Formats: sequence, C-alpha cells, structure tokens
Amino acid sequence: MKLLEERQLIVEFGRKLIASHLTTGSGGNLSIYNRKENLIAIKPTGVDYLLMKPEDVVVVSPDGVTVDGKLKPSSEIRFHLALLKYRQDINAVVHTHQVYATTIACMNWELPAVHYLVGYSGNKVPLAKYATFGSQELSDNILASIGKYNACLMANHGIVTVGPEISAAFNAAEELELVSRLYYQTKCIGQPAILSDEEMITIGEKFKTYGQQ
Ligand SMILES: [Zn+2]
Repeated sequence: MKLLEERQLIVEFGRKLIASHLTTGSGGNLSIYNRKENLIAIKPTGVDYLLMKPEDVVVVSPDGVTVDGKLKPSSEIRFHLALLKYRQDINAVVHTHQVYATTIACMNWELPAVHYLVGYSGNKVPLAKYATFGSQELSDNILASIGKYNACLMANHGIVTVGPEISAAFNAAEELELVSRLYYQTKCIGQPAILSDEEMITIGEKFKTYGQQ
C-alpha cells in the first residue's frame, strides 16, 4: 500500500477533528503531501471519520490522478492540490466547517488579532471570496488570499489551515476556533481590543521557539 504512514495520519487526525468538535460525520477534509515520493494522501469523499480505514484514504499524484485507493477523493481536492503546489513550505492541509470560524466567514469578515493565538495563522486570518464548493474559482480565491498565512477563512463556507506537518495544520484549526469564538463573544458585548501588527511579529518569533525543541 502506498503512503501507509500518511494514510494512518489522515485517519488519526480525522478522528481528532471529530473529538475536538471541529467537524461532524464526514464533513471537512485533510491531505498530506509526501514530497519525496511526490504523492498526496487525501481523505475520500463522503466517508465517516469514525469508520474510515487507512486503505480508504486515496493516494493521488500532484495533478490529481488516483494512483492507489478504490474510493473517490475529497470533493475539495482542487484547493488541496493548489495549496500544496503553491506553498513549498507546507505539506498538509486541513479544511473544516468549524462553527465559530465559519460564523466569522459567514459575516465575510477577516479574523483579526483579538488574541495572540491568532499567531497560528499570522497577524490575522485573511478571508477568501465566496465561490461554489469544489470549484476552480474557490481554489483560485483561496490562493489569492492566503499568501504566507497559515490559514484562510472561506466566505460563507469554513476555514482552511496549512502546515509543515498535519499536526501543525490541525493545531491551527483548533486554536483558531478558540480565537474565532473569542472574537464572536467580544463582538456580542462591545468592540474588542486588537493586538498591533508589531506585537504579532513578536508573537510570531516566540512561536518559533515555543514548547519542546
Ligand atoms: Zn467545505
């Protein structure tokens, strides 16, 4: 079986998305790029995370041709492949409809630095313009907005996060859900204070050396 390790990670982190209440049922999708093998493991479309097995995960070439697996790949394969091609610094993509981030996306707002944990994306989370799910236009809109950020809200749809490993992309989704909730709650009671770009540069530097080295 090709990309066994990556397929196991897709299953593991799919379950973590459910456990962390970042998605339900078969919603959202994940992919991991093995640049050495030049192959991508991606979630199959419409398969329940709790029932998904490593052999259900689809392995595709960078242009989307299935090289291993019997199921159809995620309906959002276009933007997964586009991001993995466009961003040489990343190897994993996570997409969810997590409720608070999607709430902000449904307002067609960016997510500002209401809390320093927005640093998982950068000094904010930018917003990609709306386009129909699965479309080339949606993929183009995400690429036009994400730049060097590690996350992008998708108008009236959800959020996409990226990282050098699947754990980084997952952690970004989880932490940005907290920041989205804080932004929503602060907007409910007034005008939140937003951290400066200068402070977010400091945070970005500290993030590089935070935790176990
Ligand atoms: Zn979606």
